[in-house]
Amino acid sequence: MIVILKPNPNEDQLESLKSWLIGKGLQIHMSIGTSHMILGLVGDTSALDIDLISALEIVEDVKRVQEPYKNANRKFHPEDTVIPVGSTQVGGGTLTIMAGPCSVESREQIIAVAKAVKASGATMLRGGAFKPRTSPYSFQGMGAEGIELLKIAREQTGLPIVSEIMDASQLPLFADVDVIQVGARNMQNFNLLKVLGAQPKPVLIKRGLSSTYEELLMSAEYVMASGNEQVILCERGIRTFETYTRNTLDISAIPVLKHLTHLPVIVDPSHATGKYALVAPLALGAVAAGCDGLLIEVHNDPAHALSDGPQSLNPDAFDKLNRKLIALHGFLKEGEAAK
Ligand code: PEP
Ligand code: MN
Repeated sequence: MIVILKPNPNEDQLESLKSWLIGKGLQIHMSIGTSHMILGLVGDTSALDIDLISALEIVEDVKRVQEPYKNANRKFHPEDTVIPVGSTQVGGGTLTIMAGPCSVESREQIIAVAKAVKASGATMLRGGAFKPRTSPYSFQGMGAEGIELLKIAREQTGLPIVSEIMDASQLPLFADVDVIQVGARNMQNFNLLKVLGAQPKPVLIKRGLSSTYEELLMSAEYVMASGNEQVILCERGIRTFETYTRNTLDISAIPVLKHLTHLPVIVDPSHATGKYALVAPLALGAVAAGCDGLLIEVHNDPAHALSDGPQSLNPDAFDKLNRKLIALHGFLKEGEAAK
């Protein structure tokens, strides 16, 4: 349920409404917008009398929220969420570019890629230390050492670091990682989501291979209900009947999610296609469709990458693409401003 207040509500009346609602066992999610303040009520609201609340002097309107996700719902929080990360941010009109190798492979490799993507205008360095591979015989990642190498690359470039956690037991290793990624295969690892909700770092949740928008939003809700509102959603392609591409990029996810939720939405064209030649057109399409950022795999030597080489851009290709992405985003923003 949401309670929309009239502008400049009387403070005493607001406090007594809030304590009354808390007394009913509800949690209140306050959203202060430019014109209205909204109280989002989380919990069992079935016994609340809508007419009684609507009749209060400070209340403009009361609505039931049908969707099962509440904290993530745009009705609870009409303005876009902006997530500060280091000296940059995700959302709020910024184009976040997370770039880097699928796997951290060595000190030389991660530093070379970090410097290259930074020079091309990437805003964050992404690298996997723990890798969820389909085969147990494939490279599983460098683990804790990979996280340490990412931190060294951050020191040398100033880029915040993003890396994937696979299990709640790994959390201590991520205490100094700027954005913690939950991979597609772990999107419904509810125990992991709850643990990430109880820690302060932003969480990037990738859409499961065959998950609906609502399921993705419910995963975000798990993190938010546990106390962490800093959630970034990532469309990374879904499983369809098509086999030419690794997955099928669901471009509709961008406008649909932006409509349903206030959380930032980023797109991963690398895992969506599995082919380096398809990364640029889909990345440009995703920016045109209104995403808040991209996650792009870049390797200094894709032919010898220990994972996902065929979908990785080399630094030159990334440089050309990123310049186009920044230009396209700037052009679209100018168009918005001219409206
Ligand atoms: C990754 O980001 O390297 C990864 C494994 O992606 P996904 O979880 O989307 O498959
Ligand atoms: Mn990968």
